[in-house]
Amino acid sequence: MAYLIDGKRIAQEIKDELKDKVAALKAQGKSGTLVVIQVGSDPASSVYVRNKKAACAYIGIDSISHELPEDTTEEALLTLISELNQKPEVKGILVQLPIPKHMDENKVICAISPEKDVDGFSPKSVGALVIGQKGFVSCTPAGIIELLVRAKLPDFSIEGKHCVIVGRSNIVGKPMALLMLRENATVTIAHSKTKNLPALCTQADILIVAMGKPGFIGAEYVKEGAVVIDVGIHRKEDGKLCGDVRFREVEQKAFAITPVPGGVGPMTIAMLMKNCVESIEV
Ligand code: NDP
Repeated sequence: MAYLIDGKRIAQEIKDELKDKVAALKAQGKSGTLVVIQVGSDPASSVYVRNKKAACAYIGIDSISHELPEDTTEEALLTLISELNQKPEVKGILVQLPIPKHMDENKVICAISPEKDVDGFSPKSVGALVIGQKGFVSCTPAGIIELLVRAKLPDFSIEGKHCVIVGRSNIVGKPMALLMLRENATVTIAHSKTKNLPALCTQADILIVAMGKPGFIGAEYVKEGAVVIDVGIHRKEDGKLCGDVRFREVEQKAFAITPVPGGVGPMTIAMLMKNCVESIEV
């Protein structure tokens, strides 16, 4: 049976460390606010926004949310971001994705000042990651590195391992590949046009799945003794959550695995908090 990588516990550990850090920063007179902007009322987005605000409250930083109607114009959103960019007390700005289709997501992301881009999505943040400079790193991939390091799996390190990442999105797959490279893994990225995915995945020492396809990855995709990270998150008809990986099957073969829920999910918010604290610190 595989080691269970407990994201909930590790995320709590990180938030507790941050809580202490925020208190120390406050004592030095340093504080700041995270502004979360939600356009429309997608129920999943509302839950994410609530969770982010709750995490801010837990670690002791202020947060404000702007809940804008679905028919908000792109211009109005860009004006709000521009105003927030100017406010010194605002240290982080986050636009909850997805945004309505009549808006250009790239344009909105680019409007956020890179110094306040705590999601790490702006071209400057991504470029810094590519060339190994300091900058905000996308929270989900950064959280996966923390999971692998803090899980303290026996005789395990990332360096030298072959990591296969299934998915090449700008917010998960691509930054994940760059972070794995930074950790000296050998990296392969797979996507929907990849041929013979099972053969490729079974070469992975570390298999990171971010496809957005519930239960797609079964035991036939997994090498005996691999570490399997499931980024996917889906709500089933019975209301329960599941990932892209068929957990029960894969845990029989893997060395270690993340559950859904309680794996990658909690780490995303913990790393967002880490980025916010870094933004207050500078
Ligand atoms: P996207 O839909 O943006 O990307 C999915 C990727 O998977 C694409 O690159 C796509 O390839 C690839 N893909 C889809 N089908 C296949 C296939 N049959 N074979 C190989 N590759 C395939 O998703 P995200 O990266 O935004 O998210 C992925 C999942 O992770 C979702 O379930 C999302 O909800 C979850 N998520 C969870 C987070 C958390 O905190 N736990 C945070 C962010 C995301 P192509 O590029 O060719 O289309």
